[in-house]
Amino acid sequence: MKTIGLIGGMSAESTTVYYQLINRLVRERLGGLHSAQIALWSLDFAPIAQLQAKDDWDATGAILADAAVRLEGAGADCVLIGANTMHLNYAQVAGAVSVPVIHIADATAEALKAAGVKKALLLATRFTMEKPFYAERLSAQGIETVTPDKADRDALHAIIYDELVVGVISEASKAVVLAMIENGRAAGCDGIAFACTEIGLLLDVAAMPLPTVDTAVAHCEAAVAFALS
Ligand code: GLU
Repeated sequence: MKTIGLIGGMSAESTTVYYQLINRLVRERLGGLHSAQIALWSLDFAPIAQLQAKDDWDATGAILADAAVRLEGAGADCVLIGANTMHLNYAQVAGAVSVPVIHIADATAEALKAAGVKKALLLATRFTMEKPFYAERLSAQGIETVTPDKADRDALHAIIYDELVVGVISEASKAVVLAMIENGRAAGCDGIAFACTEIGLLLDVAAMPLPTVDTAVAHCEAAVAFALS
């Protein structure tokens, strides 16, 4: 089995999901007492979030590239950036190591295609919804994306940073995001991407009115497929 290197802490709430899910998937595939070989480098999210807010992506890229190098040095055979937003720094991270960096949007595109989705509602941080890096990567694989309107994007961004990354799950926020989903359906979306690794903590994929991909789950599945290949 290959070793999965995970850059975590973005946020710690979703890194917990990654850790549990990767181990569970390996146990399901190999049976018995098997679990995954994981090297985890978990970052302090506060300075990262400050740099994001300042749009200082060179600085976040340097932190993530350093984390990837540490993971490769620890024996990782691949690296995961355990967040969607920080794939803004994908090129910098991938360029710092010789092992593959498994892109979360590629794993997501595969899962959306498998679910027959062509036009996905992108629910994410403002960075992931408004900067082109994520939509372009999905578009290159034939997936069109739609984002909520500006007021809803701001509301969702606040729900992620003020609540989900610090472990707050609120019924009121759940209702707010469900209303965005209804608007997306009315706008012709045939699927949903939870393109923030914490949204699966708020909403249950199986209860959504459209086929839905939780990017954290798709990312873990891709990593486990690699580790067991
Ligand atoms: N985990 C989140 C994501 O998937 C948001 C936190 C961050 O900006 O890294 O984008």
